[in-house]
Amino acid sequence: MSTTATDVNKSNANASGTEWDPIFDEVGLPKDPSNIYTQTVASMLQAAEIVNLRHRVRIILAQPKNEIMVHFPVRMDDGHHKLFKGYRVQHNNAVGPYKGGLRFHPDVHLDDVKSLAFLMTMKCALVRVPFGGGKGGVNCNPRELSIGELERVSRRFTAAIANDIGPDYDIPAPDVGTNSQIMAWIADTYGALSGRHGPADPFAVVTGKPIAVGGSLGREKATGQGVVDVLREMLPDLDIPIEDMRVSLLGFGNVGSWAAKILSDLGANVVAVMDHTGSIRNTEGLDVYALADHVAQNGGVAGFEKKTGTGGGSGRHCGEGCDVITEDEFWETPVDVFIPAALEGMVDEKRAKQLHCRVVAEAANAPTTPEGDAVLASRGIEVIPDMLCNAGGVTVSYFEWVQNRSNVTWDVEQVDRELNRIMCMAARRTIVAKQKYDTNMRTAAYIAAVEHLGDIYNHRGIWP
Ligand code: GLU
Repeated sequence: MSTTATDVNKSNANASGTEWDPIFDEVGLPKDPSNIYTQTVASMLQAAEIVNLRHRVRIILAQPKNEIMVHFPVRMDDGHHKLFKGYRVQHNNAVGPYKGGLRFHPDVHLDDVKSLAFLMTMKCALVRVPFGGGKGGVNCNPRELSIGELERVSRRFTAAIANDIGPDYDIPAPDVGTNSQIMAWIADTYGALSGRHGPADPFAVVTGKPIAVGGSLGREKATGQGVVDVLREMLPDLDIPIEDMRVSLLGFGNVGSWAAKILSDLGANVVAVMDHTGSIRNTEGLDVYALADHVAQNGGVAGFEKKTGTGGGSGRHCGEGCDVITEDEFWETPVDVFIPAALEGMVDEKRAKQLHCRVVAEAANAPTTPEGDAVLASRGIEVIPDMLCNAGGVTVSYFEWVQNRSNVTWDVEQVDRELNRIMCMAARRTIVAKQKYDTNMRTAAYIAAVEHLGDIYNHRGIWP
């Protein structure tokens, strides 16, 4: 029997875990089944098929509305000029303004940013905040830039995309490698460039700002807090009590460290942490507050084992010091919940086989490859998908934007209460879809998101 192109696509796709769909050809997606954007769209299309989403909505969602790429020169400290490449992908704005973070990282490239923008559309639709999806970034290594260089990169990038963002149109926020200071520089630059006839509150162009310039209380910890809110809603169903549950974390930046601190306050036992500098473990429990201070000062977990005086400092599980372990030992550490809180694609087939946990709570965006996902499913490990698990950040970004637009400030109790309400409802929505369609949690979350988007397109229609 001869082999057709379609057969080849199908067999390739099956080998990588990515379902082949004729829409890939129709909208011109790369045929390579290992392409991250193709893989991301494939996951959504599985859900679209289950709920019989209209073809017109499927093709709209399969490509972003706008893909903006810019190059801009920045004067470096030694006097020479370096050219940087920046991106802003605006995936969908049917629900509201484009929304999503800006990433400063050497691996930032177009397909990656497209996938992350796509996930923002799904995330906002799932938690029902009235935003669409976007993502952007600059290809650079912020660890190698001086503070002055970082400011000039942020301001020149803002100038390059200033006509494409705005408080009613596209609202960036922090992501990997960016923070509240960078948001303040972006807001200041945007305000300066938007002139006398600019928006009433130009600082609402970004969220995740410092409190002093319109940031929201509770935004810094929001993603970590949301991870914990979802876990608290889901774990009783899985018969895992938060008290005494063992946790390991991959990544100890903003999201990982806040999730660890909040979980430890609730009595959980954080036993192992790995980041780009090393891996550490203490089965009695790490002092995650001391570790967060150490990472803030040293840029990573390495060297924490040399610290004396840790232990007994915070949380109810807090042993003395820690051991340095290998990467394999980290992945094989027995825990109840593993929290990937770093970059995409880190839980691949090999790592998924090594994991010794009952639940993977995806605090990072797209941390699990399709191959990794298939292994976790075959091993009966429950995955709480990124678009649900880490939606706390964009949810409190929405609260920040609402506060900016209405000239009010919320106290942290109000932020936490509203965040918890939204996260619990999104978790329930996902569980209902999971039970109704007898599917895994990732597909269920996609179903809950695309049903909402389909409904909006049904009401709005497609112009003209
Ligand atoms: N970068 C975060 C995310 O991936 C937050 C986005 C936002 O607040 O707009 O969800």
